[in-house]
Amino acid sequence: MTTRQRDFYAILGVERTATDAEIKRAFRKLAQQWHPDVSAESDADARFKEINEAYQVLSDPERRRTYDTFGEAGLGGAGGAGPTGGFPGFGDFGDLFDAFFGGQSGGGVRRGRPAAGSDLRYDLRITFAEAMKGTEKDIEFPVLDRCETCGGGGAQKGSAPVTCPGCNGRGEVRTVRDTMLGQMINVAPCPRCRGEGRIVEDPCEACRGEGRTQRTKRLRVSVPAGIDDGHQIRLSGEGEVGRRGGPAGSLYVAVNVTPHPSLKREGTELYYELDLSIAQAALGTRVSVPAVDGDEEVDVKPGTQPGAEIRLRGKGAPHLRRPGARGDLHVLVDVRVPTKLSARQRDLLEEFAAESGEVVGKGGAKGGGIVDRLKDALG
Ligand code: ZN
Repeated sequence: MTTRQRDFYAILGVERTATDAEIKRAFRKLAQQWHPDVSAESDADARFKEINEAYQVLSDPERRRTYDTFGEAGLGGAGGAGPTGGFPGFGDFGDLFDAFFGGQSGGGVRRGRPAAGSDLRYDLRITFAEAMKGTEKDIEFPVLDRCETCGGGGAQKGSAPVTCPGCNGRGEVRTVRDTMLGQMINVAPCPRCRGEGRIVEDPCEACRGEGRTQRTKRLRVSVPAGIDDGHQIRLSGEGEVGRRGGPAGSLYVAVNVTPHPSLKREGTELYYELDLSIAQAALGTRVSVPAVDGDEEVDVKPGTQPGAEIRLRGKGAPHLRRPGARGDLHVLVDVRVPTKLSARQRDLLEEFAAESGEVVGKGGAKGGGIVDRLKDALG
């Protein structure tokens, strides 16, 4: 059984020969169209995730090469999740922000207001069982948090930020130049207050007027039952705070699920490959198979064929959006033909064949295939 291989080029609607710029352009367009906050389509979440995954791979020259050569399987895991344990910060989300704020970096500078802080990403590894049951995880990570000394304003105690005299609090400056084509008006963020509209004349010593300091933040993350590898949990307001009282970005907890050793998962459906002997398949048997809530007893009917599927309804993975609902566990039957037989087993099988009137083993030469008969005829 293999997992579905996706065509990331088709997802982004570009040729396999597309340049980096073409890929980026296609991604921005699709991301704007399919962002779950924007799109009313019911599958917007899934589409958006897929678009993002495709872009994460195709925008990275090394991963793109790997994907071109080996396909998605070569990437090892979901396209969207990077290596675990690292703390790449907001890099992965920079392009998303570009898509929404027209290329302004750092969450977009909105004039006259302090800019929002960056989003952060945290890679969280959980076990298969935790993904099935849901779990709570304590995480800690370094973050620029509000300065407690000045409360985030950046001004020394007893003073307060004042309206920037450079722009009168507008946060932007306009310059007008006469050119051959007429007057040209240039609007730019005020260099004196960096677009914030206010300046701190007497900066806080604890944060040097930044309004934020580095600290280690601890959080308890509640991971819902049914979460899957590559999913992200967004905790808004738990990212980096902006300079001087700017709002905080989000923390994206990227979930990596350690696979079960013998259960394969596709969404809410679980698959188990059950090997039966010839006798078990022919005579029927009762076996126990691994499942979410411990082992499940499964009745195998006499005469079960290789490739048969025994479906245990409601024994699959939980639905994320329909609490209580679960997918199915599919037991896929294979029949193993013995390759080594004891003398007694051989006798019994030969007897079995004789009873069925079947031609088997070396004894097959006489009544066997045309080649054998020819060989016999030729002596
Ligand atoms: Zn401070």
